[in-house]
Formats: sequence, structure tokens, C-alpha cells
Amino acid sequence: MALDLWESSLQEKASELHGDAWHITITDSIEPDKQASDWFQYISGSFAQFTCSLCKKSWMSKRVLVVFHFHLDTAKEEGTIKLRRFKQKCRRCNEARMEDPNFPVENIDVLIERLVEKIRMRCYKEDLGEKNRPSVFKGIVNGPHETAHCEACRLGVCTQAN
Ligand SMILES: [Zn+2]
Ligand SMILES: [Zn+2]
Repeated sequence: MALDLWESSLQEKASELHGDAWHITITDSIEPDKQASDWFQYISGSFAQFTCSLCKKSWMSKRVLVVFHFHLDTAKEEGTIKLRRFKQKCRRCNEARMEDPNFPVENIDVLIERLVEKIRMRCYKEDLGEKNRPSVFKGIVNGPHETAHCEACRLGVCTQAN
């Protein structure tokens, strides 16, 4: 379900990807700045919502880290994108699990749009110049960031830690 949103957003941009077949996979196995050789990286972040699977409480976070690693196999004409979305856990439940973020579909579209720009520049050597960015993210939340409950903070890569 969550993957479908990313994959369908990507496929809407397929015409910009030179006829190659690109697909996206969600994984916890990649880390920021540790992409394999011949792979490229795009790091960003967006507003997202979390829901605790134990108490069902929801909370919002203004900048949840997302990391994309991407690679084009020119012989196979296939592109692979790995996506990691950093998790958070409920601060009320003692046995809380790390939960996946839910991003607004509009923000998924913006992230994919920017990712596709990076793919065109890195994998296809397109010169896109300094484009102005008309697309903006939706959703602003104020309030303290719960670093103790944030997976990105634990790894020292969080962009919203104070
Ligand atoms: Zn909870
Ligand atoms: Zn954090």
C-alpha cells in the first residue's frame, strides 16, 4: 500500500527516464552516505504522520528523513531505486515499536519529482541547470522534536534535531 504510492508517483514520471524501466523498493538496509559504488544518493525530508500500532495514537513530524539510493544498469536498461524512510516510535508506550511514516501523497509527488531530476542529471548526464522549484511541501508542524523516539536521531543523521 505505502509502496504503491511511491511506485505510482514514479511511473507518472516514466516518460522523463529515457525509456528505461525504473522501479522503487522500500528497505531499511541502506544508510545515508553509504551508497554502493556506481550508486547515487538523494537525501531529503518531509512532513509525515505516524500512528502507534499499540495505542493507536497519532503524531506528526515536520521533517522526516528519507534517503534514496539509485542505480542505472545501462545494459539491462533498468533502474533501481532503494528508499529508506526513517521511523519513529510512540513516546507513551513502553514497548513501542518503530513505526513507518505516512507521507501526504502531495509530498511523495514532490520528493519523486526532485528524485527524477537527480536521476536525469546523474545517470543520464542531463544539464538541467539551476531550476527554480515551484513545488513545495505541504504541512507545517511546530513543537519540540522527540529525539529519543526518532530513528534518524539515533543514527546521528536527523535533520530536525535541535
Ligand atoms: Zn503508543
Ligand atoms: Zn530526529
